[in-house]
Amino acid sequence: AAESAQSYPLLIKQIFSSAGRFEPDNKIVYRGDKSFSYQEFRERVQQLANALKAAGVEAGDTVAVMDWDSHRYLECYFAVPMLGAVLHHVNIRLSPEQIVYTMNHAEDKLVLVHDDFVPLVEQVKGHLTTVDGYIRLSDTGAESTSDVDFIGEYEKLLAVQDKVCNFPDFDENSIATTFYTTGTTGNPKGVFFSHRQLTLHTLNMVGQLGSYDGLPLLRSDSVYMPITPMFHVHAWGVPYAAVMLNCTQIYPGRYEPDKLVELINDYQVTISHCVPTILQMLLACESGQKTQFNDWKVLIGGSALPMGLAQTATEKGIDIYTAYGMSETCPLLTIAHLNKEIRSLPVEQQLKYRILTGVPANLVDLTITEPDGALAPHDGSAVGEITVQAPWLTMGYAKEPEKQEELWEGGRLHTGDVASVHENGFVEIKDRIKDVIKTGGEWISSIELENLISQHPAVAAVAVVGIPDDKWGERPFAMVVPKTAELEAAELQQHLQQYVDNGHISKWAIPEQMQMVDDIPKTSVGKINKKEIRAALSA
Ligand code: ADP
Repeated sequence: AAESAQSYPLLIKQIFSSAGRFEPDNKIVYRGDKSFSYQEFRERVQQLANALKAAGVEAGDTVAVMDWDSHRYLECYFAVPMLGAVLHHVNIRLSPEQIVYTMNHAEDKLVLVHDDFVPLVEQVKGHLTTVDGYIRLSDTGAESTSDVDFIGEYEKLLAVQDKVCNFPDFDENSIATTFYTTGTTGNPKGVFFSHRQLTLHTLNMVGQLGSYDGLPLLRSDSVYMPITPMFHVHAWGVPYAAVMLNCTQIYPGRYEPDKLVELINDYQVTISHCVPTILQMLLACESGQKTQFNDWKVLIGGSALPMGLAQTATEKGIDIYTAYGMSETCPLLTIAHLNKEIRSLPVEQQLKYRILTGVPANLVDLTITEPDGALAPHDGSAVGEITVQAPWLTMGYAKEPEKQEELWEGGRLHTGDVASVHENGFVEIKDRIKDVIKTGGEWISSIELENLISQHPAVAAVAVVGIPDDKWGERPFAMVVPKTAELEAAELQQHLQQYVDNGHISKWAIPEQMQMVDDIPKTSVGKINKKEIRAALSA
């Protein structure tokens, strides 16, 4: 009996068991066009699993998805790993060469492709060395005219399958998902997560997002819509948590700002998550400008939330929070927990805490380490690299033992982020180590400068990078998207001078070079692309 009690494995099918258990009539909606109850979702996942088996998928195989955020993608989140296969979330925003690299590296066997990516597959399929089948994902159901030899179209394949599939038990340490990090030089690096890790991560998400007084972000009566691509770190793991809680879920397909606002209004979405640039885009689009978003909670992560954007969002009625994590960490590491004391403050004063990256999540052991290896005190001023331990960190980089060792040096995962920790436990990320600006012996945080510049009323968005300088080593450079055509560098420099005068930043932090632009370069997941900005400036 003791053995039986211990041998209950933590598998994604355990998350699936909760789907519809509490609120069977809640719906999973795609772009407002299609809608499925949890009961239908359960059947479709099993039909999909049977269709995958019919297509030859076996335990240990890798199945890739190339889709926008959809109900189909959610079905794959479950059906693929529950068969013991590995789900590869293809980052469809990478270059074709990088996509080919990741698909060969992950050894994808079967690929599910949305119509929008069929031209890409036609272009690269000759270079895909391990793929032996394609399934088409179509929003319209129209016949394919492509020369890709599809096994079939998703809906048609599901329709002929049995609605029951007996999912096997297996080792909870089996790999469930894999995807590739994006922000680095060289080839993308593969990270991977087990059933056990994802199950624990999901339970933790449910607990963190659902149970605290100060943070009831996700409950069974929530209406959830991700605006973080589902290929980006499991859409931060929230879809799994939303299924466990039986939330109403809205999958928006391809991100078009006006469509997103329409869905938020039509379905009265209560909770979303995204990187800051996406929120900024959404607020700036025509319908975003017209909408007052009441009761919409937004969890920001992926990059620091600049104060200016937090203020604008708050004025628009958005309840804004932050979280922090990375591809290597599943992702959850820290999350805003506004305790009694913070909640009792007026909203403007709460913002100071809301833009910090919250406190370490349950089960996460987070410390900051100074360059000599000593632990930095949690006094709000000492800075060091964040290292972590938690039950859901990638064991390493797929097939890259050397990089793996670097990541896990000393038995803790190194984030490459520098931060201080305040006495109340709030983590304040100062910068990525590689983005810190070193000027004349001083260290300037690019995030801090962005934060201050963002508070000028005429600034819509801003990116700060260090550029090489003969005399000072590096100097800060600011790229600014103005709200009004007249905005000039001198005005922003004067705006920054007040923070020099009150001792907040040193006078060396004021960039003499600023450029007004229509748009700031973005990475494949929509974050500010500092690497590209630096490269363009030094070209
Ligand atoms: P990429 O490197 O392509 O951006 P990730 O999504 O894994 O890929 O990025 C993780 C990094 O994003 C973290 O190491 C950190 O630098 C940054 N980040 C994530 N969340 C936050 C946050 N709330 N505040 C500041 N930086 C963040």
